[in-house]
Amino acid sequence: MLNKYMCRFYIPARNMCASNTKSMLTGKVAVVTASTDGIGYAIAARLAADGARVVVSSRKEGNVRSAVDRLKAGGFPVAGVVCHVGRAEDRSRLFQEAVHRFGGIDILVSNAAVNPAVGPVLECKESEWDKIFDINVKSAYLLSKEVLPHMRKRNGGSIIYISSIAGFQPMPLLGTYSVSKTALLGLTKAAAADLAKENIRVNCVAPGIVRTRFSSAIHEDEGTRTAVLSQVPLGRLAEPREIAGLVSFLCSDDASYITGETVVAAGGMQSRL
Ligand code: NAP
Repeated sequence: MLNKYMCRFYIPARNMCASNTKSMLTGKVAVVTASTDGIGYAIAARLAADGARVVVSSRKEGNVRSAVDRLKAGGFPVAGVVCHVGRAEDRSRLFQEAVHRFGGIDILVSNAAVNPAVGPVLECKESEWDKIFDINVKSAYLLSKEVLPHMRKRNGGSIIYISSIAGFQPMPLLGTYSVSKTALLGLTKAAAADLAKENIRVNCVAPGIVRTRFSSAIHEDEGTRTAVLSQVPLGRLAEPREIAGLVSFLCSDDASYITGETVVAAGGMQSRL
């Protein structure tokens, strides 16, 4: 029996927001960059499992084919496009193919990043700095700019940037990469403010250390792993699916009042600027 206090919070089942994750993104079309492995692949799989039709992409055709085959084997409606996010013609083909295959675009997850520089930030070569900022920051800006006309046609949309805990607290020897990830926090706020009136939400996810090929230098060496884990209150690395669920939530109507935010999923690691 519900008492008076509980009634204030009781929502009849018929009025509840979709809590069935299978249908959370039904009818949506998502484009995920760098999504043939690691966090991007987990995001693509989760968005598809939650009902979206998903375009997966990365630089290498073999990787795209293999990711599409794996997702299709799971019964998911996906398409694959070769896209190096630093190439204008590839970005344009990515969106054209999404529209051609699925009729429009509602969700962009900008996930690609590189890190060719390891060492003190001011010893980073100019060419390395440019490469990091071209892929990690400029491509996020360009992809967002180029997807806008498609989202406007749908009267709304959701853009997600994948930053890093390193964007809040620069990692030792990964200074330039860390600064590029801090830039995404600013891009999130600036774009969210500009696009809110058009019902386009812009949010960002900052993962901690996630078990992928990208972080193999950290988790495959026992000494490094132990040192890193001493900074993680939960005492373990994240699995890619633990980032994917958060991205799916931020794309969904359950997050319809959230924009301009960066959500940290870092096992309790410090995340203050
Ligand atoms: P990953 O496992 O190494 O996967 C990288 C993916 O990116 C692959 O599908 C790769 O496929 C693709 N790729 C690489 N360069 C690309 C480019 N220029 N254009 C398009 N696709 C490209 O990496 P991850 O760990 O999942 O990292 C994904 C994102 O999470 C990155 O933004 C990273 O900064 C962020 N992040 C990772 C961690 C972590 O601990 N792993 C922590 C915080 C944030 P191809 O080789 O076929 O291109």
